[in-house]
Amino acid sequence: MKPKVAFFDFTCCEGCQLDSLNLDAGQVLDLLAAVDIVNFREVKTEREDNYDIAFVEGSISRESEIPRLQAIRDQAKVVVALGACACIGGVNCLKNHLPMDEALRIVYGDDAKYYDTIPARPIDAVVPVDYYVRGCPINTNELLKVVKALLLGKKPEIPNYPVCVECKMAGNVCVFERGMTCLGPVTRAGCDAICVTGGRYCWGCRGLVDDPNIDSEKDILQKYGLTVEQVVEKFKIYNSYAEVLK
Ligand code: SF4
Ligand code: SF4
Ligand code: SF4
Repeated sequence: MKPKVAFFDFTCCEGCQLDSLNLDAGQVLDLLAAVDIVNFREVKTEREDNYDIAFVEGSISRESEIPRLQAIRDQAKVVVALGACACIGGVNCLKNHLPMDEALRIVYGDDAKYYDTIPARPIDAVVPVDYYVRGCPINTNELLKVVKALLLGKKPEIPNYPVCVECKMAGNVCVFERGMTCLGPVTRAGCDAICVTGGRYCWGCRGLVDDPNIDSEKDILQKYGLTVEQVVEKFKIYNSYAEVLK
C-alpha cells in the first residue's frame, strides 16, 4: 500500500503548491510510483478524507481556519508545513503590526464588515508539526528530499546553519561590503543563497536558524556603519511572528 498524501492551503498565494508541481517528468513519475496523491485542489477534483501525510500551505489568519487545521492534524499521521507562510507565518504576519480592524479596512474598505481576521500565525502555533519545507516559495528538490526521507522512515536532514555558509561557498561578495543589509547570518540555509547569487540579499524567507546569533548580526551592522532599524525592516517581511530582533 502506497502512503496517501494530501495537500491543503490556508492563507497564502498558493505559490508553494504550484512550485510542488514544478518537477521534471522523471521526478513526477518517481513520486507517483511512491505515493498516492489523494487530495490536491490545484491538480485534481477528486478528494479523499483518508490520508497519511498532509502538506499544509499557508498561515492561519481566520478563526474558521483553526478547526479545519485541527481536523487535518487529527487525520494525518504526519503533518508537513509547506513554505514560509506555514512554517514561520511569512508575509501574512505583516498585518500583525496593525490593529485587526484597521488591516481589514485597508484591504476591504467599506466591505470590511463582511470579513473576519485574527493575527496571522504559522501552523505550528495551532497544531504540532512534524516537518518543515521552507522558503518563499519552496525549493522542489528540498520537497523531494523530505518526501523520500518520510518514505524511508527517516528524519529529513535540513541545514541548521546560516545562509552565509552557502553564500561563501557560492563565491559571492558579501552585500555588506556594498553598504546593504542582509539576513543571511541568522537565516537557515538550504537555498544555496540564491538571492545573493542573483544580485540581491537575503530577506530571511527560510526562517531563522535554531538559536540565531542576533548579537552577531547587530555587530556586523555596527562594523559596516548600518543601523539595526534597517535590518529590522527586512526582518519584518517574513519573520514578524518570531520578533526576536526587538
Ligand atoms: S510561502 Fe510565499 S510562495 Fe509560498 S504560499 Fe506563502 S507567499 Fe506564496
Ligand atoms: S551576510 Fe548575506 S551577502 Fe554576506 S555572506 Fe552572509 S548571506 Fe552572503
Ligand atoms: S537567500 Fe534568503 S531570502 Fe533568498 S531564498 Fe535564501 S533564505 Fe530566502
